[in-house]
Amino acid sequence: MSVPRRALAIGAHPDDIEFGCGGTLAKWARAGCVVHLLVLTDGSKGSWDAAADLADLVTTRQSEQRDAAAALGAVEVHFLGEVDGELVAGEVQRAEVCRIIRLVRPEVVLGHDPWKRYRLHPDHREAGRLTVESIVAARDPHFFPGQQEAPCRPERLMLFEPDEIDHLELLDAVDLRAKLDALHCHRSQWRSTMGIGDGPDAGSQRLAFEAKVIAELDRAGADVSGPAEPFKLMTDL
Ligand SMILES: [Zn+2]
Repeated sequence: MSVPRRALAIGAHPDDIEFGCGGTLAKWARAGCVVHLLVLTDGSKGSWDAAADLADLVTTRQSEQRDAAAALGAVEVHFLGEVDGELVAGEVQRAEVCRIIRLVRPEVVLGHDPWKRYRLHPDHREAGRLTVESIVAARDPHFFPGQQEAPCRPERLMLFEPDEIDHLELLDAVDLRAKLDALHCHRSQWRSTMGIGDGPDAGSQRLAFEAKVIAELDRAGADVSGPAEPFKLMTDL
């Protein structure tokens, strides 16, 4: 697949984009693609500490997300700011995601698969629905006609962590390193998501986390003999 000129990746939480398609975005950014990220929720459920200051957590996670975007080579992060765990693909949210698609004008949109089976987290399902439904709105002038930005029809939609895989993006060592570095930017998630503590074992825990991510990419890319991120590709938008 050719490198798009502009791409927009949409994730439910800070770190979802890095897990789902970080290597692909890094590869494209290095080849000149203008990459934007859109994070839908504020990440305010992302702590095991019941006494955590949630306003601080939201600020921290936005800052971590900006660092991660820089590690991937993305130019900008947009935040929708919905409450973590309470995302709905409603009219208000669709209008805003539609506006961002029209503003960024991506050739390729990447997002969660709303049709993935046996998925527990409601935000991932809602984020997938919101992505798909906002593309439908963005391409047609009769949706949200009051918006200043002109309609925009992306050429491709790539769903990450897909229910059905029909497309792989191969990663080289540089892409892989950028994905891992971007994931590590999410410092507040080391303990809960990545199994990396503060103790003397942190170094080996960090390597174990990296090995797990690489093993998954190797499994996905077994048929193409290299690490790869798997997608469901839709081109009839
Ligand atoms: Zn998530």
